[in-house]
Amino acid sequence: MTESPLVLIVEDNDKNLKLARDLLQFAGLRTLEAMTAEDGIALAQRDRPNIVLMDIQLPGMDGIAALRKLREDERTAAIPVVALTASVMKSDRERFDAAGFDGFMQKPVDVRTFASEVRRFSTQGRVR
Ligand code: MN
Repeated sequence: MTESPLVLIVEDNDKNLKLARDLLQFAGLRTLEAMTAEDGIALAQRDRPNIVLMDIQLPGMDGIAALRKLREDERTAAIPVVALTASVMKSDRERFDAAGFDGFMQKPVDVRTFASEVRRFSTQGRVR
């Protein structure tokens, strides 16, 4: 039997973090949580999740810088990283694309589709 995907959520808003975690766990996915980029990177290096959901605005290092760090490290370079963003602006979307994210998801998350989208991203793997 295949183990369910392990999802690392990096999100500094505790309500958003809890909602994402609850939705994923309810759908049978396994989760790891970090509230800073620095903690997220350390967890990713240690536990090698199947996918990272990365908030962009974080205290200290932001999500784009964190993505760069994950890509530079051979332990985490192959892990798909999806931006979690409240922005709907096309210019921001293009910036995340250019930064090398494998996708993005809109906040607030859609509670009906969130877990299945995350599962899809995790099985699709790196797209760039
Ligand atoms: Mn944030």
